[in-house]
Amino acid sequence: MAVSQYDLNVLLSSVCLLFLVSCGEQDTPVGENTSSSVWIIKNAVVYDGLGNNPVTADVRIENGIIDGVGAYEAKPGEKIWQANGLALAPGFIDPHSHHDTKLMQQPAPRSALGQGITTIVSGLDGGASSFGAPFVSIAHNYSLFQKNPASINLAYFAPHDSYREIVMGDDFKRAATKEELAQMKQMLRRDLEAGALGLSTGLEYEPSLYSVTEEVIELAKVAVEYGGKYSSHIRSEDIKVTEAIDELLAIARGANIPANISHIKLAMYAIHGDAASVLAKLDKARSEGLDITADIYPYDGWKAPMAILMPERDYTDRAAAEYALNSIAAPSSVTITNYEGEPSFVGKTLEDLATEKNMDPVDLLMELLQRAERENLNERVIGRNIAEGDIEMFMKWPFTAITTDGGIDDSHPRGQGTFPRVLATYVGDKNLLSLSEAVRKMTSLPAKNLGITDRGILKSGLAADLVLFDPGTIQDHASFEDSVQYSTGIDAVWVNGELVWDKGDVTDARPGRIIRRHNTKSN
Ligand SMILES: [Zn+2]
Repeated sequence: MAVSQYDLNVLLSSVCLLFLVSCGEQDTPVGENTSSSVWIIKNAVVYDGLGNNPVTADVRIENGIIDGVGAYEAKPGEKIWQANGLALAPGFIDPHSHHDTKLMQQPAPRSALGQGITTIVSGLDGGASSFGAPFVSIAHNYSLFQKNPASINLAYFAPHDSYREIVMGDDFKRAATKEELAQMKQMLRRDLEAGALGLSTGLEYEPSLYSVTEEVIELAKVAVEYGGKYSSHIRSEDIKVTEAIDELLAIARGANIPANISHIKLAMYAIHGDAASVLAKLDKARSEGLDITADIYPYDGWKAPMAILMPERDYTDRAAAEYALNSIAAPSSVTITNYEGEPSFVGKTLEDLATEKNMDPVDLLMELLQRAERENLNERVIGRNIAEGDIEMFMKWPFTAITTDGGIDDSHPRGQGTFPRVLATYVGDKNLLSLSEAVRKMTSLPAKNLGITDRGILKSGLAADLVLFDPGTIQDHASFEDSVQYSTGIDAVWVNGELVWDKGDVTDARPGRIIRRHNTKSN
């Protein structure tokens, strides 16, 4: 496929396992102890992740589990961490991550740990890889992860695009046949049985761009049988965003499935300012009983194949190319981050490159896309055409979680900066969210949206994934100009009770676990 979902970087990582028992509201969660160590975190300002006001307390963790919040003294052999009044929260859950791609190369990823992320969820946008290699199955990824432990937890959605690629090959520019749909359902069942959280789609991308809504509804119904969720990079985030949201609602209704809009945005000049009407539509759907949620990253630019600028994919259509650069994203706002075989293009905008080549930007766009299609080249751009006011409205919506959509050492700053940026800019500078609310959007809310019940809340009996940070100094440093700069202000991170981030540096601990869907067949 000319356009695949993930960067094909290699790697290898992994981690332990875990047996999830349905823990629901019970206080007997998690499974397998990988640590017998006790930590007493002294004098922290404790945020529970539910949005409640913080309390100053000590937190005791034992055998990977939060043992209690209160006043504790360390007994011999127990370790103490002096929090000195810093904020202690449940570890941040990243509901839409591509950090898995290089996780085998960097099992203790600074990009993620430096943001306080303790769980990443992958297989989103409809696409999964096997840690950068071609996708086989979710169970295969789990076994690689178990052989090569990482410092963070990992969960997956079952990937529609990947199934389509496997089942339909190069003949994908059409609806799937009944037989093909049956094959996809089989793969989906296999991956749901392995523990995938639900079904993900990337309907703006090849090959799922050519799927019909009914195909997705049929697959979503299978996910429902297993109690799974639906998370979608919807079919358009620009010209046809209204239709794309209507389609998501139709899928939620048709399959009766909780549906999440991945990295919600309005990426086109003419629709800037429409966030309120989008949210009104989503609220109306919720009031009708649909479980609709979203996630968002705090940046005005996306990263995707340049091909999405021409949704009809006719790269000889000059009017469509002109429309793309006039109405969707101006040549000066589109920066090439990858064009296979042309390293000199990287970091240049379409405007820069057009000037250099003495070409009209419209001709350049058409040429680059035609060539990528003809020669089957990977390409990616960052397009900065999202309005800040829309970001703020979407972020404030009570059902929107924070996500990175980023990778390890990502060419987009989101891979390194997302969570600290929300805390520094949207809590600190802009005062858009309270700290309690921002933490909720990073912890219990994504856990709820994902169906993860053993973490995301700081309370006795849940997994001891914790982040200790300084709300006064936390800061992202990654920018679009210099993306691989790690955030500062995260003092310590524990995953399953083990210290994985120690005052600005990773440790040798690799306590990350596989997070499987907690329920089994629907009941
Ligand atoms: Zn996406």
